[in-house]
Amino acid sequence: MTEVNINEILKKAESIFSHVGILDVDTIVVHPAVREYCKENKCHQYDKKWTCPPGTGTLEECEERIRKYHRGLILQTTGELEDTLDFEGMGEISKLHTEKMIEFSKYFRKAVPTGMIVGDMPCIECKECTYPHEPCRFPDKISYSMSALGMIVSEVCRDNNINYYYGPGTLTYVGCVFID
Ligand code: SF4
Repeated sequence: MTEVNINEILKKAESIFSHVGILDVDTIVVHPAVREYCKENKCHQYDKKWTCPPGTGTLEECEERIRKYHRGLILQTTGELEDTLDFEGMGEISKLHTEKMIEFSKYFRKAVPTGMIVGDMPCIECKECTYPHEPCRFPDKISYSMSALGMIVSEVCRDNNINYYYGPGTLTYVGCVFID
């Protein structure tokens, strides 16, 4: 594999996201409880995509996917809400984060073809996922969500010395990329 210039990738990420941190992949803990929570299907995505349980494979298989890497980046989009019931504002920040993840992913896939993209939502590459009848259409473009892989977002941020909460009235969405 060609040498990856993490500083260049970091610079690109910083030009897109509100906050960027270095991810030490060895700090990541996968939690069976997170997968149990997925089963409650509050997001209506359970058993709907290759990137959501049980389509992701077992938690052990997800951990294997993670442990192939050592370095990555944490990518955050922070916005402000009018109040705690500002659902429209929450939706806008979420949409903005998705747009930023898509923009960065286009760059990242070229810069690090062997990398892994892990956002805050299931893969949105295809209008309709092939799950469960056909294999994934674009395995090189697939993106998981942190929780589908068993990760607790706030814990990953804490263990990598990057804030998750930026003060009253703010909301932060988080994704990450695994580099090498
Ligand atoms: S790339 Fe397409 S087929 Fe593969 S997981 Fe994503 S949405 Fe599904």
